[in-house]
Amino acid sequence: MPVSGLSPYDDSNIFARILRGEIPNRTVYEDEWVLAFHDIGPQAPTHVLVIPKGPYVSFADFSAKASDAEIAGFMRAVGKVAKLLGLEEPGYRLIANMGEHSGQEVPHFHMHIVGGRPLGRMVPLA
Ligand code: AMP
Repeated sequence: MPVSGLSPYDDSNIFARILRGEIPNRTVYEDEWVLAFHDIGPQAPTHVLVIPKGPYVSFADFSAKASDAEIAGFMRAVGKVAKLLGLEEPGYRLIANMGEHSGQEVPHFHMHIVGGRPLGRMVPLA
């Protein structure tokens, strides 16, 4: 069920629970700023989510409220994880769903890293 990207942060969301260690995940990478783990329902051979450790509902929330250090730490980590996954040479796609029209389902900002095969059109025809 899509969520609004503008609601107050709800720390019972599934990614908050993963960050607190209450729910297991298949971690790929972790540092001071992010946790990266395999998506539970992969849409491609490689499908990893990178989430900031801070409480941000969506890209809108993160880009407006995160500190410069958090934003830099997050973006650098996304690049690092994609490289770690061996996706740089064949290429990959980054997706950040924000709000209802995007289909965002988890109200904790996350970047999808998707790759491992040619990915086709950027946005499917409706
Ligand atoms: P979005 O639609 O952008 O909010 O994406 C949410 C993503 O989170 C989906 O691709 C789900 O498959 C993924 N997801 C949901 N629960 C889990 C979980 N427990 N562990 C890993 N990925 C999850």
